[in-house]
Order: sequence, then structure tokens, then C-alpha cells
Amino acid sequence: MKNGTLILVVEDNEANQLLASSVLVREGYRVELAGNAKDAVDLLTTNRPDLILMDVQLPGEDGLGLTRRLKADPKTAMIPIVALTAHAMVGDREEALAAGCVGYIAKPINTRTFGDQVRQYIIEATPA
Ligand code: MN
Repeated sequence: MKNGTLILVVEDNEANQLLASSVLVREGYRVELAGNAKDAVDLLTTNRPDLILMDVQLPGEDGLGLTRRLKADPKTAMIPIVALTAHAMVGDREEALAAGCVGYIAKPINTRTFGDQVRQYIIEATPA
């Protein structure tokens, strides 16, 4: 099932990019990386990921702004987006959901649980 599943990771921090992609590749997913909103939008013109992992804090347009934009575009609106948030602060989850995210994963990334968290979101996003 997950063979061929494509995940777009939008994350500006190189260490987090490496951490996330190494776990996801080990789990059998295909991974595309974007370091900012513009690169993510460019990738989305030619890629249709099954899930987007969206860092909230990006240089330039932030992750929630980009999420709102993707949700407003019929070409990308159906792609589930999970926020990656560095601050597990009260209100962050609500803000991510209000922007159109299906949920969030708190950073720092825990390599022991990250694969399960991602898999759960993909299962939830897959029509029964
Ligand atoms: Mn960031």
C-alpha cells in the first residue's frame, strides 16, 4: 500500500529535512523536499503527493499561509496536510486545523514515533 506513496516535506531546517526523510524512506515512502513555500508550489505543479508535512515556521510565507493557499486551490485542496510545529503551545493545534491541516506533529521529530504518526495520518486520509 505504501509502495509509491509520495510525501512532500516542506521544511527549511536541513537537519529536520534529513531526519524526516531518512525515517520516511526507511518506512518505504517516496519523499520530495522543499525548503520554502515557493519551492513547494513549484514541486506541486508536477507532483501529486499523498500527504504534505508542513513546517509552520518557514522563511517568507509561513507554513499555515501556504496551507491556506493550497486549500483554496482546487488542484491541491484534496491533499492532506499535517503541520510540523516546533512549539506545542496552546492554540497551535487550533491554528493549524483552522488553516486546513488535518492534524499536527510536534517537533523535535521523535524518530521512534514519527513513522507511526505519519502512517496514521495516511490511513485516516485514505478513503475506506
Ligand atoms: Mn522552520
